[in-house]
Amino acid sequence: MPDKIVVAGVSVDTRHWIGGRRVASGDTFTDASPIDGSVLGEIARGGPAEAQAAVVAARDAFPAWAATPRAERARLLHAIADGVEKRLEELAIVETNDNGALLRSHRRGVMPRVAHNFRFFADWLLKLDHEDFETRGHTNHVSWDPAGPCVLITPWNAPLMLATWKVAPALAAGNTVVLKPAEWSPLTASLLADIAAEAGLPAGVLNVVQGYGAEIGDALTSHPDVRRISFTGSVPTARRIAASAAANLTPLSLELGGKSPLLVFADADLDLAVDLAVEQYDNAGQVCLAATRILVEETVAAEFTRRFLEKAATLTQGDPRDEASDIGPNIHPRQLEKIDGFVQRAIAAGARAIVGGHRGDGQYYAPTLLADVAQDSEIVQEEVFGPVLTLQTFADEDEAVRLANDTRFGLAATVATGDTRRAERVTAQLVAGTVWVNCFFVRDLLAPFGGSRQSGVGREGGTWSFDFYCDLKNTVTAP
Ligand code: NAD
Repeated sequence: MPDKIVVAGVSVDTRHWIGGRRVASGDTFTDASPIDGSVLGEIARGGPAEAQAAVVAARDAFPAWAATPRAERARLLHAIADGVEKRLEELAIVETNDNGALLRSHRRGVMPRVAHNFRFFADWLLKLDHEDFETRGHTNHVSWDPAGPCVLITPWNAPLMLATWKVAPALAAGNTVVLKPAEWSPLTASLLADIAAEAGLPAGVLNVVQGYGAEIGDALTSHPDVRRISFTGSVPTARRIAASAAANLTPLSLELGGKSPLLVFADADLDLAVDLAVEQYDNAGQVCLAATRILVEETVAAEFTRRFLEKAATLTQGDPRDEASDIGPNIHPRQLEKIDGFVQRAIAAGARAIVGGHRGDGQYYAPTLLADVAQDSEIVQEEVFGPVLTLQTFADEDEAVRLANDTRFGLAATVATGDTRRAERVTAQLVAGTVWVNCFFVRDLLAPFGGSRQSGVGREGGTWSFDFYCDLKNTVTAP
């Protein structure tokens, strides 16, 4: 297999990055573009041997990196951010070819944010502190000690963005990292390894291994030298990882799926509510936070639906490299099968497709809105992870909250209302890691981010990230 492939003019190494060098595997897997199904290349297919090598490299590099002064760690993270900014266009085009998300959002939203992830945690590291306090004349001093090698496992829907939410704080905290990107979108993680090396990050501090989750994953998550596992992905995989981590009681951070509600009250600005609803088709619906259950107060349901249809009709579905496209393809033929399976079973069970309800050409799925869905039906309870929304109505606030919370997930919720007090009342009752009122997707890295119930364990962001990636130590000194 060639060591490098060229994707839209950008050279990408297809091998692992372990201990500061490129390492091939005997076996490979095929990476295809969701845009047209074309083969991008063969990628190294790691297994237990590569997992072992990467953890050993991370373990060996850990003492020196942990002892590196904070200011120097922060400087290197800023240098990585510089590298991301320098190669922003390359990262954007490779990511779009690899996972099918819009090039314009990679260019203007995602990749600048990737650089920001490094800058934010570098700066936060320098502020990280805890005031000393006294106990009967003794001084308590809390220190944020690096925990050790971290295994970071990430999904394909926002590959580099989600990876760097983890890589940046883990490295800032003084940990070393083994990153395992998703096999459906392996490329930008490899470019990140190049960027980190060019920035001067010492060998072994960041390692990137490729491969299918189950083949390489168990060896990573059950390794006794791994001190933290941070995973973003699906609930079934999280269960497997948790079981594997249990052998060593390795602390876990889990960012999982969702089935978030959008509550539209009669007093809402309906145009805003419709905008928020249609926004849920972003990234072809492959967004963990997506408010896929639209709950509308029954007195405005007809008008909401009318305006939704009007707005949805303006969306352009097409090649994600085209600036005019609003919705790109779904990631993989298997994902498309899954999405269509959900929709066809829902229709067979009595759901009515107000919009869409079928596949488009190639790997595209028609943006879909399903009404007449039962609260306990599969389509209302299970995460579809495609451009599929459901529409339900409620009679009053109590029913809205009851429907919103009637799910095993608890990642996010969005409330559209013109009444501030209602917003406070409803928000207080919602089970969700993030609630947006009259907005969506606004996220500050300072804020805690994560899910309740089966949407996750723990929170990422600001101090919460360092809480996870550090071993907090309290030193009590006698007077
Ligand atoms: P997935 O669980 O199938 O895979 C995620 C990652 O886990 C991949 O890298 C995969 O290779 C790896 N993996 C699979 N089996 C493994 C194992 N046994 N051991 C170790 N690693 C293993 O999820 P996906 O389909 O890639 O991603 C979609 C899911 O991710 C959705 O449920 C979505 O809601 C969720 N997600 C959550 C967030 C969040 O922040 N809460 C963000 C994005 C996506």
